[in-house]
Amino acid sequence: MAAVAVREVRLFGDPVLRTRADPVTDFGRPLRSLVRDLTETLRTERGAGLAAPQIGVGLRVFVFDVDGVRGHIVNPGLDFPDAGEQDGPEGCLSFPGLYFDVRRRRNVVARGFTELGDPVQVVGTAEMARCLQHETDHLDGVLFIDRMDPVTRKAAMKAVRDADWPAPAVKVSPHPMSGRPR
Ligand SMILES: [Zn+2]
Repeated sequence: MAAVAVREVRLFGDPVLRTRADPVTDFGRPLRSLVRDLTETLRTERGAGLAAPQIGVGLRVFVFDVDGVRGHIVNPGLDFPDAGEQDGPEGCLSFPGLYFDVRRRRNVVARGFTELGDPVQVVGTAEMARCLQHETDHLDGVLFIDRMDPVTRKAAMKAVRDADWPAPAVKVSPHPMSGRPR
């Protein structure tokens, strides 16, 4: 078994975050290694979700850990069972330490595949729904700043400019996806 590695999380400004990821076609050992690395990196960074482009891999895979519900989805697609929406703070490991309100759908069904190629479905509401939308966006090169209203986006971009990254210190700070206490 290959060693599991904590990978460096790419920060906003890295072009890989703006690149549409490719569908996974090979469900072999390299994919399982990628899922392990994503899982370990997410755990170390104490995030709620992490998509492969965030560690520099242009494949449609993400992992999640929302209040202890953990998993991964390969080649995900989203369905929205209703029109409900939610507002709330959201963060991103590629924007360390920054949290801004983002409006999302409240209920989501994510369908895709496991690392072994078996169909999988994750039904999410509230934080889980937020995570599934955020991570699926990453696979299309879409970032949470794109989902903010113009006023919030302006504040976020100012915070980004003031953040002065990449800085080594960002690697040690815990920054879960939600700004809420856990
Ligand atoms: Zn993110």
